[in-house]
This record gives sequence, C-alpha cells and structure tokens, in this order.
Amino acid sequence: TKKIYFGTNLKMYKGNQAVVQYLSELSDFANNLQPEYEITLFVIPSYTTLKDAVSCAQEKTGRLPIKIGAQNMNPNDNGQFTGEISPLMLNELGVQLVMIGHSERRHVMKETDQEENEKVLSALKHGFTTLLCIGETLEQKNYNISDEVLRTQLKIGLQGVSVEQLPSLWIAYEPVWAIGTGGIPATADYADEKHTVIKQCLLELFGEESKKIPVLYGGSVNLENSNELILQPHIDGLFVGRSAWDAENFYQLIINT
Ligand code: 13P
Repeated sequence: TKKIYFGTNLKMYKGNQAVVQYLSELSDFANNLQPEYEITLFVIPSYTTLKDAVSCAQEKTGRLPIKIGAQNMNPNDNGQFTGEISPLMLNELGVQLVMIGHSERRHVMKETDQEENEKVLSALKHGFTTLLCIGETLEQKNYNISDEVLRTQLKIGLQGVSVEQLPSLWIAYEPVWAIGTGGIPATADYADEKHTVIKQCLLELFGEESKKIPVLYGGSVNLENSNELILQPHIDGLFVGRSAWDAENFYQLIINT
C-alpha cells in the first residue's frame, strides 16, 4: 500500500486563535478517517501560533496525529539576527518539522540556494523533519530549463547532507507558476514527469537510500485535481495551500483522494 503525505502551509493567514480552532476541527475530522492508506498529516502555521498549535495537536491526538511545522528557520543557534527564529527556539516548543525554501521565501524574500542549504543542514542537525521546497518559475519553464533548475536547487540545497539523515528529509515540488491566486495547477502528467527528474537526481546524489525520500506536489491542488495527482507513480503526497485552509475542505480533499 502507498504511504501518502497530506500537508498544508497556512502562509501568513491564521493567527493563534484561528489556528487552534482550525487544528481542533481538523483533528476531529482526521479521527474519523478510516484510511486504506498510511497517511501522514502536517500543518505549517505562523511562528506566533506554534506553541499553542503544538499543544493542540498533542492534546487532540488520536488515530491520526498532526505534525506541526515552522515556515522558516534561521540556521544559527543564536546570534545577532534581529527578527529571526532559531532551531533551538523551535525545538523548545516541540515543533517537529521545518519547511525550507518555500517559493515565497525564495522569490519574495530573495533567499538563495546557498541559504536554503545552510538551513537544511541546520534543521537536520537539530533533528527536525526537513521539508525542502523547490520549483521552477514560469520564465524558467518557458526557456525549457526546468529540469536543470530543479537539479541545481537539489544539488546546492542538499550539499553536505548525509545518507544517515535521509529519513528526516522530505521534498516538495512546487512550480512557482502553479502557486497561489492566479496560479495554474500543473497537469498530473507534467508533475509526475518533474517528480521523476527529482527522484533521479536524488538517486544520483544519495543512491538507493534516496528512495525513502517522499516527494510531494504543491501548487493549486484542489478537490478536482487531487485524486489524479496522487495516482501518479512518483507523487508521494500533496502540499496544499488555499484548498486546505478550511478544515472541512481539507478533510474532503483527503477523503476524495
Ligand atoms: P496553493 O495551493 O494555494 O496554490 O498554495 C500552495 C503552496 O504554496 C503550499 O506551500
């Protein structure tokens, strides 16, 4: 049976109260699931909500636990980095997962592959499940260099990661042109083709052990396309934005998939 990952990035949308409400609804729904598949469920809310999100997820934990993640992390343990959040601070709150290199961090906050690499190494060193996001822009797609872009993002982003750390590594493929309002979802065929490129690159970098790394698709996943996407042989999970921000919608998406 296929192991499936479902997660959502709440971006800069829900404050503390809204996140607690959302998680409590989602865990009630999740506990009704009678999945024929093994499901891993995760939610990535804002920093200010993490403390309550972690305790809410722990309290409500039933058949299907919800893993809580942070949207970003400074790679340093501490230092003169005003406004940043360190791995020690996230560890202290019981956060299990850290997302690195979301397209909005790369393109709005201008983070580089080298910076993502420092964060990946630090997150893995501190024992977090580390979700590295990669994806080409529309311009790169039009120049026909998507595969090269993905390979570069993986080769730099994962530089120095050891085979022993791979059980804590997840990858999300999120084509920039598919994300958010105005985004066009990738077709299932296109997404699967890029997942094949990603898995081939991981195989070159890490060998057979790389087959354990789940590769999730994200970018305008919705109730209409989720099933076809997950049926693709190289897609291990779905990373959802807008269609998951209402707990019931997210639950519907999971059961329809
Ligand atoms: P949308 O599903 O809203 O396109 O967002 C995807 C995303 O950015 C998940 O990280």
